[in-house]
Amino acid sequence: MKRDPRTKRDRHALDRDGMVLCNPRDREAAHRAQVEGIATEDVSQVTCKRCLRLLSSSQ
Ligand SMILES: [Zn+2]
Repeated sequence: MKRDPRTKRDRHALDRDGMVLCNPRDREAAHRAQVEGIATEDVSQVTCKRCLRLLSSSQ
């Protein structure tokens, strides 16, 4: 089986400023996440545990 690194990546949530929710101070991370398609505004698509925790605690 071939390994696809993308399937292993967590999908992160974005906050209102377009920053990665679990890493809000890192603009590079936000940019990378968007470019690599591992950030989503659809909460149901988020797989990152830290983002999920932040999402649930903010609601
Ligand atoms: Zn995250």
